[in-house]
Amino acid sequence: MERKGLILWLTGLSGSGKTTIAKGLECELKERCCLVELLDGDIIRTNLSKGLGFSREDRETNIRRIGFVANLLSRNGVMVIVAAISPYRTVRDEIRKTTTNFIEVYVNAPVTVCEARDVKGLYAMARAGKIKAFTGIDDPYEEPLNADIVCYTTQESVEESIAKVIAELERQHFISTKPKNKMID
Ligand code: ADP
Repeated sequence: MERKGLILWLTGLSGSGKTTIAKGLECELKERCCLVELLDGDIIRTNLSKGLGFSREDRETNIRRIGFVANLLSRNGVMVIVAAISPYRTVRDEIRKTTTNFIEVYVNAPVTVCEARDVKGLYAMARAGKIKAFTGIDDPYEEPLNADIVCYTTQESVEESIAKVIAELERQHFISTKPKNKMID
């Protein structure tokens, strides 16, 4: 069977749940024997985008680099999961237009909730002025207007958010529906 590549692009505020959902999806897709690669923004910034800062220009460059690599992989049949804040609508839309099978997943949680979670302690540092231009605090986040999937992580469990994405991939025939009860001959 020909493998169908895709780019599952998870965008959202820091602490909204991108990495958590991405890792769960990676696991679920690997279980189904899919070729999967996870491009996590935090990790990309320690290698491919090392040295880039958080100005608008640097953020755009970072997102475009991730999009470039995602495209190389997806066109060769890999299911690429991107977990990156990717705050600018225009750049996300540009990647959607220049790639195939781009699926935008908006990992949606209000900034108040993300700040309360403060998984990496970054919001506290931003509030204390130790980090400047932090998305959602003193730098913009442009919400997707037409995301293919929205995961409301304040209302859904991690499992529910993952299941939502998997269901959409099944609906679009990227993966086949898992049989509920495996029949043993
Ligand atoms: P991000 O990658 O967006 O910065 P993380 O995945 O690192 O965010 O952290 C998100 C936090 O939110 C985790 O502690 C996770 O357990 C929690 N969380 C609660 N509900 C959900 C959900 N439905 N999906 C994803 N994360 C959730």
